[in-house]
Amino acid sequence: MVVVMAPEATEEDIARVVERVEEVGGEAFVSRGVTRTIIGLVGDIDSFHHLNLRSFAGVADVHRISAPYKLVSRQHHPARSTVWVGRPETGLVPIGPQSFTFMAGPCAVETPEQTLEAAQMARAAGATIIRGGAYKPRSSPYSFQGLGAAGLKILADVRTVTGLPVVTEVVDARDVEIVAEYADMLQIGTRNMANFGLLQAAGDAGKPILLKRGMNSTIEEWLLAAEYVAQRGNLDIVLCERGIRTFEPATRNTLDISAVPVVQAASHLPVIVDPSHASGRKDLVVPLSRAAIAVGADAIIVDVHPHPENALCDGPQALLGTELRELAQAVRQLPGAVGRVDAATLMRQPA
Ligand code: PEP
Ligand code: MN
Repeated sequence: MVVVMAPEATEEDIARVVERVEEVGGEAFVSRGVTRTIIGLVGDIDSFHHLNLRSFAGVADVHRISAPYKLVSRQHHPARSTVWVGRPETGLVPIGPQSFTFMAGPCAVETPEQTLEAAQMARAAGATIIRGGAYKPRSSPYSFQGLGAAGLKILADVRTVTGLPVVTEVVDARDVEIVAEYADMLQIGTRNMANFGLLQAAGDAGKPILLKRGMNSTIEEWLLAAEYVAQRGNLDIVLCERGIRTFEPATRNTLDISAVPVVQAASHLPVIVDPSHASGRKDLVVPLSRAAIAVGADAIIVDVHPHPENALCDGPQALLGTELRELAQAVRQLPGAVGRVDAATLMRQPA
């Protein structure tokens, strides 16, 4: 923490700050400039907060230097992490700094046929993790809410047929147990990023977590949400940038592309991009995917549907199978250009 003294601060003001910091067990390093003095504090940050140094005479400002999150920060863990997703039958798929992972599937599990068809389209295009929501967090209570537990069983069947691990959303702490039983990775959606009880319950489930950024959340709030999971002893967390709310109505959300390198500098956790939910428009999925890989995303997660016109959720952003293959083709050379290999080549093979 750094205390910036006002230009008119007196020697007594400076001495008072040093004295109080030392009283609570900290050290204070005074650095005198031409017009102002700054004081660097070393010690327990919480005890400094309790001093309320901003209210001291002669103090102009107080800055926090270290990040408020710890377990997910790169200060705590300098090397970037890889999260492995899967189970013995599927093998383990990496999401991390060496590889690029392609994840795809329907927005929602609607029927066994639709889900399997979408998953096969995903696999045919080279995806190695299948997505699909059984519990849907809809803005309107009148919209399709998902099939719930029946949807989880469909996803488990799809895993058996395709051999690919499955990520699916959990929207309520009461459902964590059943979702964790069927899923290989638990998604926390944008609307629940700050549902701290859900984060803690999901953190206890023993499965990797896909934590989407809250649509109204800062990067710091997002990393603090991840810290809630990490505090439960689960560091298998993948962060997903999925667009934030801005004044711009041309896209459903605004993809905050700079969040990817910003988060990678601050946190060791993998960061991925969801171009489908970020834009809400299928015509933007290819360009945003290209941007995501070029900027350093560890994976993309894309909506695909056999009949987008009949989709019960997010049809306008869903690609057809042919379009998903075109996407894979369009981005084919990008991971190599940024020093990554296809995650499929690093997979730990099925037992
Ligand atoms: C989803 O991935 O299906 C979803 C609901 O995403 P988000 O939480 O980002 O809106
Ligand atoms: Mn959706």
